[in-house]
Amino acid sequence: MVATTEALAATMAEGPTSHTQNQAVRPANTFGYTREQQIEALYKLREPFKPEEIRYLPRVWCGTCKNSRGQGCQNHRMTKCGKCGSRMPDGGHIDLRFVGHAEATNRLLNVDPFWDWEPLTVDERGLPTLDGYRGLWIRLTVCGMTRLGYGHAGDKTGGDAIKEIIGDAIRNAGMRFGMALDLWTSSDLEIIESGGPSVDEGQESPGERAEQLASGPGRELEKLKAKVNAGWNNVLSCEQNLAEARQKKLLDELVAVGEQQVRVEDLLSNRIATLKAAQGGDTERSAA
Ligand SMILES: [Zn+2]
Ligand SMILES: [Zn+2]
Repeated sequence: MVATTEALAATMAEGPTSHTQNQAVRPANTFGYTREQQIEALYKLREPFKPEEIRYLPRVWCGTCKNSRGQGCQNHRMTKCGKCGSRMPDGGHIDLRFVGHAEATNRLLNVDPFWDWEPLTVDERGLPTLDGYRGLWIRLTVCGMTRLGYGHAGDKTGGDAIKEIIGDAIRNAGMRFGMALDLWTSSDLEIIESGGPSVDEGQESPGERAEQLASGPGRELEKLKAKVNAGWNNVLSCEQNLAEARQKKLLDELVAVGEQQVRVEDLLSNRIATLKAAQGGDTERSAA
């Protein structure tokens, strides 16, 4: 078992972004599920959530509105938003979609009544240990398949923060299984960055249509690069771009950074870590 231990140590030394390798060396316990049963059940995790299971988190994208102390701006009147239910600048904010703790738990139970999670590390009392950003790494096991997830609670403190961290980590790990992944790869972020009008659910934005028409090798990567540049200073943007890169299988593509060629996954993972460290852990929209 020497080789295995060394491999584990090596992957651990690379830090939390290397969890895919880390997981590969863990012994598989499929809990009696056959491979076919696993695949079938896990596929159910990816099914879209019903509209009533989806919640909305408002984000003001208009700079003038942001600085207006709740007054809105010339272009955006303050109204009660029908989606998020908050008083927000009409047209000056977007509503990011996410799935709450209860809905996520319900989905996991429906797919595998024996699903479970455990913290990656515990202290001497057996309690889950938080990392330097007050976040928690967990293992989520569904149908005998285990993947890592990470949760944090932003500025919350006390017992509520712990519950938030756990729920957040479960949803984050769930996203690695494809749960609610479509909510993460929607065109919402393009709207933040471009300042364009909101796009209703299920409706195709002009950008998406153009993308479909012009899609070809390299096209997706160019589009992603533009988004990465636009969202370089925003954790949320970087995380969403990473999710998109994963979905579009662009993680291993190389992009030029100065003289160097860097993998997309490494570039974004490092950037996210840097931004989080600078902010002391921003958690908004850590839902997925
Ligand atoms: Zn405005
Ligand atoms: Zn709203």
